Amino acid sequence: MSSSETNPVNDAPSPIKVASLFVRGRNALAVRADFAPLYVDYYLHWLDQGITQEEPYDSLLKHALAAVVLHSTTRPWRETHAWTLNFQSPLCNVFVTAGSLAESVIGRVFTHDVKQAPRGLFHAQTTVQGEHPRQSAVPLEHGQVFPAVEHFYRMSEQRRARIFEVNDEDYVMISAQPDCDIGWLDSLTTDEVRQLDQLEELSLLETRQFRFHCGCSLERIFPALAPLIANGIEDLFQGDPAISVTCPRCGTSRRLSREQLEEMQRRCAG
Ligand SMILES: [Zn+2]
Repeated sequence: MSSSETNPVNDAPSPIKVASLFVRGRNALAVRADFAPLYVDYYLHWLDQGITQEEPYDSLLKHALAAVVLHSTTRPWRETHAWTLNFQSPLCNVFVTAGSLAESVIGRVFTHDVKQAPRGLFHAQTTVQGEHPRQSAVPLEHGQVFPAVEHFYRMSEQRRARIFEVNDEDYVMISAQPDCDIGWLDSLTTDEVRQLDQLEELSLLETRQFRFHCGCSLERIFPALAPLIANGIEDLFQGDPAISVTCPRCGTSRRLSREQLEEMQRRCAG
């Protein structure tokens, strides 16, 4: 590979393609993508931020990113999906969000200040610009992402969906459509899903693209700083010329100077 073909750390990540296939005769939707290139950008991002993702949190976050992308691809283009999976064991919150129009997915794991509870919770929010967000929450009984998503589909979406890893980091979600052959879907094995194009009649419906990308900037994080500024800029900076602000969605830390903050306040006021 020549140097012009390599992807420097700060370059915009390259998207992966997610294919939607209709399984004729079974009335099911198969959504498939190889996430390996997206996970390369994922690791470059954490490396850039000096953050090490340790197991089991790394796998939980990677699986949640894959699942929310596959789910988004089964849904209308204009919807943005944000999920928070509160696991009680291991105790953590996994946050992921994906949008088909923005062609992006981002997320992070929180392990500090997570409340202990008798059971976990799967919280989902669907947003369409100009409309009130739709929310739903179901108990999370599993310590793994894919069974939790399958349970969420049964309880909240009220239809069946299953997720398979057909090759390393290559995932397929199969979800029931009206008049689905549920017996077939329930008994599907990973081997059968791997050979789906030989065993079943598939038609390609569409392809979408997603990249691991937040799109945050100091300006976009500014509204979240409002409660901190309430006591005055002096209180926030404590005599320092700049503070560090962290994006809640992707964990990116940026330096914010008093001058930048005052400038943003002026622009908001004007
Ligand atoms: Zn961000």
